[in-house]
Amino acid sequence: MIKIASSLACADCSRLGKVVEELENGGIDLLHFDIADGHFVENFAMSQLEMVSLRGRTRLAFDVHLAIENPARYINLFAEAGANIISIHIESCVSLYHAIQEVKKHKIKVSVALNPYTPLCTIEHALNDIDMVLLMTVPPGSRGHSYAPEVLTKVRQLRKIITKRKLNIDIQVDGGVYEDTIVKMAGAGANIFVAGTAIFNDSLSVKDSIALLRNLAADAYKE
Ligand code: ZN
Repeated sequence: MIKIASSLACADCSRLGKVVEELENGGIDLLHFDIADGHFVENFAMSQLEMVSLRGRTRLAFDVHLAIENPARYINLFAEAGANIISIHIESCVSLYHAIQEVKKHKIKVSVALNPYTPLCTIEHALNDIDMVLLMTVPPGSRGHSYAPEVLTKVRQLRKIITKRKLNIDIQVDGGVYEDTIVKMAGAGANIFVAGTAIFNDSLSVKDSIALLRNLAADAYKE
């Protein structure tokens, strides 16, 4: 139930292949690719090129977060590059329905991402059709920001809806995931955590960081 995803955009990009090997040996569940186009978010991040170059080196699932304008246009590109889960932002979709259907065509998991200020009611009608909701705890494209505590309310509300409607949907939180915050996020009902510097740091090995985050989340998680 609890999964840890590593944010590859926070890793040392000069040795990505080696990093992925360390993550796989360290027991990571998902490789999270932040794709940014310089429009939907100000900066650029990863692209399909890193996915293609890493796809042959690992069996780990590719969790692809499209922080881009009009994501429906590019679903093919990222599905062919090896995505196993694709998150599309509701704020940048021309038609959420069509974007979801585009992902489903490839028989991979589909997720909808929400920025911190976007309310849950915007996706309530899509919940029957999706596998995951990605809740941004910081504005996308920002690094090192501390998370907005209001997101915990959103996590709690979403978990309640999922339980009430008996849906099989994961709640992923992205941004500001550290040892202290993961406890709060899991306690509110999130079960997939995108961690960056909490995994890539000098104080613990990748393996120990992943184990620590997983144990903290598992202890705090309540359905
Ligand atoms: Zn992300």
